Amino acid sequence: MAISIPLFSLSSLSLSSSSSSSLYPSKLHSPSRTSTLGTSYCNSTSHINLSIRSSYSGNGSSPDAFNSSEIPSMSPFSLSMNESNKPSFKWRRVLLKVSGEALAGDQAQNIDPKITMAIAREVAAVTRLGIEVALVVGGGNIFRGATWAGCSGLERSSADYIGMLATVMNAIFLQATMESIGIPTRVQTAFRMSEVAEPYIRRRAVRHLEKGRVVIFAAGTGNPFFTTDTAAALRCAEINAEVVLKATNVDGVYEDDPKRNPQARLLDTLTYQEVTSKDLSVMDMTAITLCQENNIPVVVFNLNKPGNIEKAIKGERVGTLIGATWNSTVSTA
Ligand code: UDP
Repeated sequence: MAISIPLFSLSSLSLSSSSSSSLYPSKLHSPSRTSTLGTSYCNSTSHINLSIRSSYSGNGSSPDAFNSSEIPSMSPFSLSMNESNKPSFKWRRVLLKVSGEALAGDQAQNIDPKITMAIAREVAAVTRLGIEVALVVGGGNIFRGATWAGCSGLERSSADYIGMLATVMNAIFLQATMESIGIPTRVQTAFRMSEVAEPYIRRRAVRHLEKGRVVIFAAGTGNPFFTTDTAAALRCAEINAEVVLKATNVDGVYEDDPKRNPQARLLDTLTYQEVTSKDLSVMDMTAITLCQENNIPVVVFNLNKPGNIEKAIKGERVGTLIGATWNSTVSTA
């Protein structure tokens, strides 16, 4: 069956690199956990800054745009292509994990619309090729439960629910950006917020993907004490996506701290065991274990380099690949 729909106007957008920090073994820390965003707010007078840069003027930012049912259903495919003759890429369905911190760009505000637009454009480019893309978005740019737990009697669970709500804010912003350039997008939340988004329903999510829609999973796993990395591994396994693509502010995983050791090599591939035994801060232990148990490879790559998201989704060599080799999609132990 031939599918033919109008072309979108898509130009590439350059991103400002916001961080030069890197993932490296053990002594390793996660840059995302040590930035100013991760500063403890206990006993401080800091306020959560929810403001968003006003320079963004995309037409998908009105509240109406959040109601996905009002957006006409349209295929993201801009090419006339035969269903049975789709180009073959390494992955056909991917789970892209975007941390909240990555959305913050240079961190002057919680969300940088240049970043969300760059993500949207690169995702648009691959959905046009027929690759199905689901996203899990973090919330660390707005709120991290662990940072606030204990402040003013705030229990960890309650703090984590606030963190999960933060991911919903990011998801709605990303959805608006994507729809402003014509990518049909659905947000599904792990707990019900039916005025805002669909609840997470696995089979429905898969159906959306099959129809060429991008699905953004928000509110993490819906449970406190977990992270959105774990949500990414979980949703990836549930929807039978083939890989978790972890977009970060660093190029991948290094053998040593490149700040202290400029000779440190960026690692091409790693096994799951190497990640856990060397205590690499690639993902939290629950997330990496879930990936290992389900043979889900993980690609860690730099979101700030233009073209990287597209490359990662197409299965081109970028960053560090965990649990597989570049020549094969088959996971290794
Ligand atoms: N969170 C949670 N359960 C989940 C996912 C997230 O409680 O399944 C909360 C937790 O407080 C976390 C916050 O949401 O700190 C934001 O998620 P995360 O830190 O994973 O975001 P990222 O680092 O990717 O921006």
